[in-house]
Amino acid sequence: MEYTIKNAYCKRVWDEISVRYADQGHFLQAAGLVLETISPVVDKMPELEKNAVLERFVEPERIIMFRVPWTDDQGKPHVNRGFRVQFNSAIGPYKGGLRFSPEVGLDVLKFLGFEQVLKNSLTTLPMGGGKGGSDFDAHGKSDAEVMRFCQSFVTELYRHIGPDTDVPAGDKGVGGREVAYMFGQYKRITNQYVGVLTGKGLSFGGSLARTEATGYGLIYFVECMLAKIGQDFKGKTAIISGDGNVAQYAAEKLIQLGGKPLTLSDSTGYILDEEGITAEKLAYVKEFRANHEKVDAYVKKFPKAKFFKGEKPWGVKADLALPCATQDEIYLEDAQKLVANGIKLVAEGANMPTRAEAIEYFQKNGVIFAPGKAANAGGVAVSGLEMSQNSERLSWSFEEVDAKLKQIMTNIHDNAYETAKKYATEGDYVAGANIAGFVKVANAMVAQGLV
Ligand code: GLU
Repeated sequence: MEYTIKNAYCKRVWDEISVRYADQGHFLQAAGLVLETISPVVDKMPELEKNAVLERFVEPERIIMFRVPWTDDQGKPHVNRGFRVQFNSAIGPYKGGLRFSPEVGLDVLKFLGFEQVLKNSLTTLPMGGGKGGSDFDAHGKSDAEVMRFCQSFVTELYRHIGPDTDVPAGDKGVGGREVAYMFGQYKRITNQYVGVLTGKGLSFGGSLARTEATGYGLIYFVECMLAKIGQDFKGKTAIISGDGNVAQYAAEKLIQLGGKPLTLSDSTGYILDEEGITAEKLAYVKEFRANHEKVDAYVKKFPKAKFFKGEKPWGVKADLALPCATQDEIYLEDAQKLVANGIKLVAEGANMPTRAEAIEYFQKNGVIFAPGKAANAGGVAVSGLEMSQNSERLSWSFEEVDAKLKQIMTNIHDNAYETAKKYATEGDYVAGANIAGFVKVANAMVAQGLV
């Protein structure tokens, strides 16, 4: 993908990293799109080049890599790779999830960490950005194996994290079970009961509404986008990809607000329910997912729905598309299908599910597009609220957290919208989110000197 990077300083930094990290395609895509869209504001901030802000902005402050040895239930040893990318701490302690998935390596974690810096900045909460994880694949592993893996992972990671240093959480492959095992091991090693991880269980420092936060937040964000064009969810159909935490709670909130989710997916294919996925059907999705069953379990229970093996849902006709699975879900040809079918709005529940060419195609064809760093920031925002509750040793009610989440998503929307109007094109949420997220971090980096 060619980026049109107009500012000379942005272009120079882009040229440097595109050679240095030629093998890190995901990181380069994330950075390229940011350097392209922040160009107009970098033009107006000569202090950035004087202070080498961009050279620093694209380099993680620190990358920790380690081995994770563990034994399976037969006593056989295994060794995985563990990582923590501490990307930027200009505006707060590093914050961001841990991903346990075979694709995890420096490329994926650097893209996620880089995006997290801007996302966390947009939340308005004091959080820097980081990301970590391992190439461990929990599929087919017993509970005891997952526990031993998590304990081994934290036995190294614990020395690099802390409630005022770096606060990891979940991401793909890391949910409440894994966070709990890691929290237990951290506490055992350090003898400290502190909010070092978020997404914890409710009886040991977790926040109400954290589980729902990313999906609900996505729908609150889309509600603001629709309001800008004088519309709401009533009667609108949506293609949702994924069937995990983000997809489930996005569907739940969408149904509550009068919309109709038609699809869900996983790595095996997608299900289409023309009658619409209802709250009752969604309860069954939560059940089969908890039992680690694949998405075709849906059609076994609700035979009027159809399962499309090995396919993605982007050929389905609908008003909205909400990619909520993982990166690289929507390529140019998928975007073309969606546009041909009259899609009006695409908002990312996952991190970078849309390839840069597809984003460009949406924008050129009048589709309103919201990037994940703005639209899916609800998860980490409520993680930030969990940190506040842990610090004050209190817990807030579901309604209180949900109201704060809604307010934060509205603020992110308005900030991205107004910033785009001021520096780029009205309605360009990619530019708006990148510029708004960046300026705050950049100003803090200038103020703190060459560190
Ligand atoms: N993994 C989530 C994200 O991509 C949440 C991170 C967190 O809560 O720290 O934003």
